[in-house]
This record gives sequence, C-alpha cells and structure tokens, in this order.
Amino acid sequence: MRTGDDTERRRAFETMMPENGDGTRRTVPALFDGTATPFGYVRGIGGFVGVEPDQQRKSLLMAAIRVVHAIGEGARPDLKNLSFFTPDNTLIMFAPDRPDKLLFYRRDAGPELDFRASEFVTITRPEHNPARITRCTTLQPILYDKTNQTWTTGCHTPIDIDGVHVGAWGNSLLLDDILATSHFEDHPGTSVILVSGEGRLISHPVFTKQGTAATERYLDLKTSSEPKLQALWEVLQQHNDDHVTGFSPELNGYVAIRRIPIAGWFAVTIQSASYVEAPARRSLGRLILIALVCLVLQAVLLFVFLRQNVGRPLRALIRQAKQLTARVAQRASDHVEQVREDEVGALTAYFHTMSQEILRAHTMLENRVTERTLQLQRANGELERLAGCDPLTGVYNRRKILQLLEQAVAEAEAKGQFSLLIFDVDHFKKVNDTHGHVIGDRVLRAVAEHTLATLRPEDAMARIGGEEFLILLPDTTASGAYEVAERVRETLAALELAVGDCQAVRFTVSLGLTEHAPGDCAEAMYQRADDALYIAKRSGRNQTRSSAA
Ligand code: GH3
Ligand code: MG
Ligand code: MG
Repeated sequence: MRTGDDTERRRAFETMMPENGDGTRRTVPALFDGTATPFGYVRGIGGFVGVEPDQQRKSLLMAAIRVVHAIGEGARPDLKNLSFFTPDNTLIMFAPDRPDKLLFYRRDAGPELDFRASEFVTITRPEHNPARITRCTTLQPILYDKTNQTWTTGCHTPIDIDGVHVGAWGNSLLLDDILATSHFEDHPGTSVILVSGEGRLISHPVFTKQGTAATERYLDLKTSSEPKLQALWEVLQQHNDDHVTGFSPELNGYVAIRRIPIAGWFAVTIQSASYVEAPARRSLGRLILIALVCLVLQAVLLFVFLRQNVGRPLRALIRQAKQLTARVAQRASDHVEQVREDEVGALTAYFHTMSQEILRAHTMLENRVTERTLQLQRANGELERLAGCDPLTGVYNRRKILQLLEQAVAEAEAKGQFSLLIFDVDHFKKVNDTHGHVIGDRVLRAVAEHTLATLRPEDAMARIGGEEFLILLPDTTASGAYEVAERVRETLAALELAVGDCQAVRFTVSLGLTEHAPGDCAEAMYQRADDALYIAKRSGRNQTRSSAA
C-alpha cells in the first residue's frame, strides 16, 4: 500500500486520534461534529484503537479515513452502519451517522474490548473467508449496549489492496431494520422469518423483539423449547436447499423458503391458512350468491312457464269442467264446495260434484237394471211355464211331459220304480159332432180338472194330443198305476157335464199303462203304454189295460 507523506499522516493521525488516558486512542469530537480537520470539513467519521498501532498501522488507518472521507464527500450512501476493521482487529474505523455508535466508541469503549472475540470480526479474517465474499453474522447483542437488549447482525466484505489484505467493510443492521414490520402491513397473516444456516434465529415477528433481554433464549432453534420454533427447524432441515412452497401442517400455514446465498440465511415466509383461504371463502360467498340468484331466476322462469303451459290449460279445463258439471248436476255452480281458493281447488270441486252425480246416476241405473232383470226373470219363468203348458187345459203339453219322462228314465236307478199312464176319450168325435167344438173343449178341460183332482202333487199330467192324456206316476209300480187308472176312469165316467137347459154330456175313457223296467228307454215305455191303450180300445173301451216290458 502506498503511504504517501508518512510524516504528515502521522501528525494528522495524532491530531485526529489522540491517545486516551487508558492506552487506547479515539477520534476527536471534531470528526463527529463536522469541524474542520486536516481533511477539511468532516462529519460522522470515528474510530477506536484498542491497541497502540505501529507506524504502518497508523498510515493504514489514515488511508482508511481518507477513503471514508472521500465516500462521505461524494454520493454519500447511507453511512449509518458503515464500518471498517483492520486485519488484526486492533483498530476499528467507522463512519456512522448513528449517534449511539458514535457515543460508544468516542467515550465508552474500554481497553478490554476485544473484537477478535466477536463473530463479525472472526469471519472477516482471510483464513476464515478465503473467497473474500460478503458474509453475515447471525443475530447477536450489539457490542456497545451493555443491557444486551439491542440485537443486530452484520455483513462483512474483506478488502484487499495491491494484494494486501487491508481490512473489511462491515454493514451492521439492527434487528428492527432487517425486516420492518411495516413491510408486511398490507399482508396481514404473513410472517417473515430469517434463520441462519446454523439454525440461529435472525428475525422473527414474535420471538425476536428489539429491546427484550429474553430474546436470546429463542435464538438457537436447535435447542429451543418453543414448539413453534422446533417445528420451524424441522421444516428447514427437511427442505435444506430447496426452494419450497406449499402448505406445512407443522407451521399451520403456507410456507415459502428461500435461501439467501450472500448471508447463508433462510428466508421463511409463512402465510396463515386462514389468510390464504380467505379469498377462496369470499369466492365461495360470491358463488353462493350467484347460485341463489340463479335459483330465483329459475323459479321466476318456472312460474312463467307453468302459468303459460299449465295455468292456461288448467283454466280452460276448469271452464269445461264447470259446464260439464252444470249439465250433469244442473246445480253445480251452487253446490260446489271449494276447499282451496285456487284453480286446482275449483277443478277438484267441479270434478267432485261431477263424480257424485255420475255415481248417483250409476247407482240409479244399477237399480233399474236389477229391477228389469227381475222382471225379465219372472217373464222368462212365465214363458218357460207357458212353453210347457197346454193352453186349453192348463196341464203340461206334449213337449214338457216327454222331457219329464226322459228325466224320470235317466233318474230311475237312483229314484226307484215309476209308471206311465195314457188315456183317450172314447168316441170324442161324436161329442164334437153332437155338441160342437166349444162343448168338446169344455169336456177336455173337465177331463183335465177332475183327473188332476185324483192325483198326488208329485204326479205329472199332460195333454199329448186332441183328447189324449199322459200321466207320470213316480214311485209307482204297475199295480199302483192300475189303481190310479181305475180311479180316473171311474171318476170321469161318473161325471155329468151340463149342456144347455136339460141336456148333459157323459163320456168314458180307455187307459193303457206300463211300468219302468231296467234298461228301458222313454220311447219303449211310451210305445208299451200306447199299445195297452190300443188293446183297451179294441176290447170295448171304458177299461184299463197294462203292458209289461
Ligand atoms: P175312439 O177314440 O173311441 O176310437 O173314437 P173317437 O171318436 O174318439 O176317435 P178319434 O180319436 O179319431 O177322434 C178324435 C176327435 O177329437 C177328432 C177331432 O175332431 C177331435 N178333436 C181333436 N182335438 C180337439 C180339440 O181340441 N177340441 C175338440 N172339441 N175336439 C177335438
Ligand atoms: Mg177318442
Ligand atoms: Mg183319440
């Protein structure tokens, strides 16, 4: 290093940095207060030399003062924390505008002050920083605050001139200046944490508070008992060199980790889950609002649609129902009881009235049908009876008695013996010829009436031809039938039918009978009885003949 005029510099050194009573040297107040110095008008430059420097060191210090002065005369950057340290740390040189620093080094720094014990001095030594890069210390109490309540960090850049290591520039930052809380005022719920690579806390919105002595117990994350800090250290260890962004359950927030290469620090940004999710929740609220509006719109559209497509047809239906009800009930408009005062209520009432009327009409119709059916059944019965009757005498006719005969033959096995009797009026032609057909008819009616009177209720009698009759006798053998025949013959022979004033008609009948034999059919029985009648006629009439199978 070029030293220039050494004598002049040494003199200037003695002037600006006189020896103190305790063996140290301090800059004169003029340097702080802006008084004229051998360099001209200077303000805010100060120094503290703990160990008496040799001539070379004195020259070095003066050169440094010139440099600092030059900087101060020029663009004058923020010199609040600009410091310079000589390589062996026997000398500290700084150009601060910060009164606390100025006062400490001008008055309070004692001879025992050993910069080499401090981290920020150690890391400036070439053997510890051969690459000559800027390195920063972790958070530590500032030297000159004896209360140990002011926290600071420092970044240091080694300076080599002409291949000679002349010292290091340092720029210390107070904790409050590292991350002013105002930087994040617009981001509530956001915390920014700085941690050194060794796991020491640089800045934390909760645990590193300027002006509190308790800070130190939180500084080392590796030994901290605070759960949140332990979690932070765990997360940092997991994502050592990564640029991590994502949700961390341990820290209950969304975390972004960035490594700051110059300082070797981690910058950890944590946004609380509630803060990050708040916009989503606001969006959800908007979504719900939109959904509600859509629902209301749908309801309105549905109402219009129903009014057009259901309401109108419904009203038309009601008009028709009303007319129809009035027609079927004729009193509908007066008697409709409406439960609901709307279209559906009206429609229901009209249909109710209509259905009542239809039901009433249906019941009436049913009663009429039942009545008519009974009448028909009665008429049918009468017809049936008449169909089997002889209109002249009122006894069965030929068709009916032959049906009964067929039935008796079919049931003979189950019901037992029965007999058949046929009889014919003797010389009836003569009766007709003598007295006329009207009297002949009276005779026939008298035959039927008086014969019936001799029979049992279960016996059946029919007129099967002009003056020919047939009688079915259930449960009757041939001999029983003979008795019946004789009784009939005697009854009719005794009959005297008055004709005119002094005339009477008398007549006889001839009878033929047979009884049912096993295996008999109706025709065979009829034939046998008829044969027997023929024999009775041939034998002189007015007699009964029997024919066995
Ligand atoms: P018989 O039987 O003894 O041999 O002599 P008949 O005179 O009775 O002979 P026939 O059986 O041939 O005559 C029956 C007559 O009865 C002939 C017919 O004019 C008459 N006759 C038939 N049906 C009726 C009728 O419904 N009413 C009347 N009044 N006469 C009838
Ligand atoms: Mg006859
Ligand atoms: Mg006859």
